[in-house]
Amino acid sequence: MSDFTVAIAPWKENAAFVYSVTYDEATIDVLTNVYPIHQEYDMPGHVCAVSGYLGTERLYRGTSMREIFHMSAEQLHFLIARGWTVSSHSHSHPPTGQEGIDLDMEVQVSKWELEKATGSPVRLFTYWNDLALFDRILPHAKAAGYLGALSIGYPFNTPDFDRWNIARGTLGRDLEGWLEEPLVSLYSHSRDAFPGKLTREKTAGRWLVDITHIVAHRLPRACPESLWNRCSTPDILESRLQEVRALWGDRLWAAVPEAVLDYALMRRAARLAVQRVSPECFTCTVSLDPVPEAVSRRELTFRADIPWQRAEINRGKVSAFMQEGLLTWTAEARDGTQFAVRAA
Ligand SMILES: [Zn+2]
Repeated sequence: MSDFTVAIAPWKENAAFVYSVTYDEATIDVLTNVYPIHQEYDMPGHVCAVSGYLGTERLYRGTSMREIFHMSAEQLHFLIARGWTVSSHSHSHPPTGQEGIDLDMEVQVSKWELEKATGSPVRLFTYWNDLALFDRILPHAKAAGYLGALSIGYPFNTPDFDRWNIARGTLGRDLEGWLEEPLVSLYSHSRDAFPGKLTREKTAGRWLVDITHIVAHRLPRACPESLWNRCSTPDILESRLQEVRALWGDRLWAAVPEAVLDYALMRRAARLAVQRVSPECFTCTVSLDPVPEAVSRRELTFRADIPWQRAEINRGKVSAFMQEGLLTWTAEARDGTQFAVRAA
């Protein structure tokens, strides 16, 4: 009989908490006010870019973002080269109630435009404004070859999150308690995710995705006061990253959303078969259902309950460590990948 069992960890490296931050609109302040803070806390970031506005000022009737500039292709490229990722946040960000929105343009063409501009794959779509067009956007997003979509909602995602509805919560200045008022804000914000309110109990096993917009000490006078509710200051952002780092230390996985999605898709497609070869050796074989082409990181974290004090995997070619009494390793996995675990 074997007392050897192997399971796949819910998150990479068996992280206790996963954290991502996304900057909607990809405005130029991300380069000067946000990127240095991310460097300081060693976390990658993500921008949601509007493909029709790269390198230009946003100018259309009804926008709350007056005198705000979007990053150029070159600026997005700068961030991508440093581990950041870019999603499509539509082509023109039209008011969702407007007649005759061309969803092919907004969802499919915008992916192609951003890929052409940055030279990198765009694997996530980010719904814009309220979620009024959610059901109509979904088939376009699937047809365009996205892997998933960033949404709005209770932002503590569990490992079985819906990849077409990855929930995010707003990090903002919260004038007059706007963020605390779900009826006013369109979004179901949770007080649990407000800055300074994260606890180990609330975050354990979860993936938190923050959204903010402009990060600056001041907004142009042309912007309405209420825009502050969706925007942060460098101080708010820094205290957030500090809070997240302090809460979980090295059990935190700070990642771009695409990396988290890759891991989840791999985990959902994988099954393990364990076989005892001798009293000192077991094998663990991965069978993997097909995963989408666009999944770029094909890794899994395994956790094994072993009957020995120490063990090695594939004659030491795969490094492993003991964590909470379980042998833990992260490795690339394909259909048929086999790990031989031996007493050492
Ligand atoms: Zn937006």
